[in-house]
Amino acid sequence: MRKIAAFFAVSFLCASLSSCAQNSERKTIYAMDTAVTVTAYGENAAEGIESAEKEIYRLDKLMSRSNKNGDIYRINDNGSGSVSAETAAVIQTALDVCRSTGGAFDLTVAPIMDAWGFFGHEYRVPENTEINRLLKSVGYGNVTLDGNNVILGNGAQLDLGGVAKGYASDAAAEALEKSGVKSGIISFGSAIRAVGKKPDGSGWKVGLTDPQSPDTFIAEISIADECVSTSGSYEQVFEENGKKYHHIIDPSTGYPADNGLASVSVIGGDPTRADALSTALFVMGLEKAIRYQKADGGFEAIFITDDNELYYTDGLEGRITAAGKSSLNMSKIN
Ligand code: ADP
Ligand code: MG
Repeated sequence: MRKIAAFFAVSFLCASLSSCAQNSERKTIYAMDTAVTVTAYGENAAEGIESAEKEIYRLDKLMSRSNKNGDIYRINDNGSGSVSAETAAVIQTALDVCRSTGGAFDLTVAPIMDAWGFFGHEYRVPENTEINRLLKSVGYGNVTLDGNNVILGNGAQLDLGGVAKGYASDAAAEALEKSGVKSGIISFGSAIRAVGKKPDGSGWKVGLTDPQSPDTFIAEISIADECVSTSGSYEQVFEENGKKYHHIIDPSTGYPADNGLASVSVIGGDPTRADALSTALFVMGLEKAIRYQKADGGFEAIFITDDNELYYTDGLEGRITAAGKSSLNMSKIN
């Protein structure tokens, strides 16, 4: 599984130099089905990372489908019940994105994920009849959220996999800040959240994975105090009979979204929403996604197509640079 990753070369260098004025610490843990790296600078760096780590593990339990003591497991098991205020807030943001994207994002996609084996990483191509049967319980309209109470109608099951990493990256950033860290970055691979700027006052350089060669970067962008969320067809993928299947599902068909996009990155100030949006815009395809971004205006985006075209929204002018791939065409969306 390859994901977007922050460029850490500069901070590695700093950590290894005894003359470097700023203390720096970094730790990688495994949570939410991925490697998570927390980097922090300054005298409270170690304390901040410890506190961020606790937050990430706590939220993983709370929002995972498989943890019996978590909110999502319990609600899926009972069909209704009350959840923590945090889970309710994430469900609310997810529902907002479900509605505003006309269901391109759908937090009830769980049974379809299971049928394809993405949940347990035991991949298979389901029969069309199986998908159609399962689709009957898929639909965000089956989810009622009233305060902290959730009711699932029609056998619906919740899956916060498309949104929880964004929320957790934000909570981890808050934990760093509460510990007094003014400069740091949290990377869940596909969800990156920066605290402040780098200690030298410049922005954090975040590499965008090349969908055609996921071990390399295709471009980099500079961020400060904001997040980058990426959804890409290369992130969880398997091949059967020469055809590739990935983990971002079009809820209207039950099949992996297949509309010419290879990845979508959303850059903005709200990591929870950005996470849901990158998944949704990927499902919508380039044209609809651009229309949505223009109408919304609250975030920036980068689209990479299957045929190696990169499009970025005009707010990113001057913040995005190509990583040198000669065949890449990079255009600003007007
Ligand atoms: P990643 O989880 O790799 O960071 P995404 O944020 O795009 O990537 O989320 C993909 C995850 O979201 C899937 O693993 C699944 O749990 C869930 N998901 C897949 N398709 C959708 C969809 N259309 N709407 C909501 N969630 C989805
Ligand atoms: Mg997402």
